Amino acid sequence: MAPIIPQRKSPGVAGAPDPAVTVRLRPCWLCRARSGQPCTERGDHLGRWLAAYTDHSIAREDLKAVIVRLVVITKWAVVDEQLTGRAA
Ligand SMILES: [Zn+2]
Repeated sequence: MAPIIPQRKSPGVAGAPDPAVTVRLRPCWLCRARSGQPCTERGDHLGRWLAAYTDHSIAREDLKAVIVRLVVITKWAVVDEQLTGRAA
């Protein structure tokens, strides 16, 4: 019998959803970028990533992987999609 609750694959596992794509599925509450639209030319606001983490769309490890690369940490910080290594 198939599981009723969808099981999320572990980060980094082949076939796991790309967190940068998952984050971009939601609208940004800071700059009002629409679903699927990037916040800036460089990437998406950290606030968008935090919101995705808060609603369990991405794993803690996914969020940690982008935060460790930021020099200044504010909700307005832009997570450079070149640094995620997985441009959408
Ligand atoms: Zn934004």
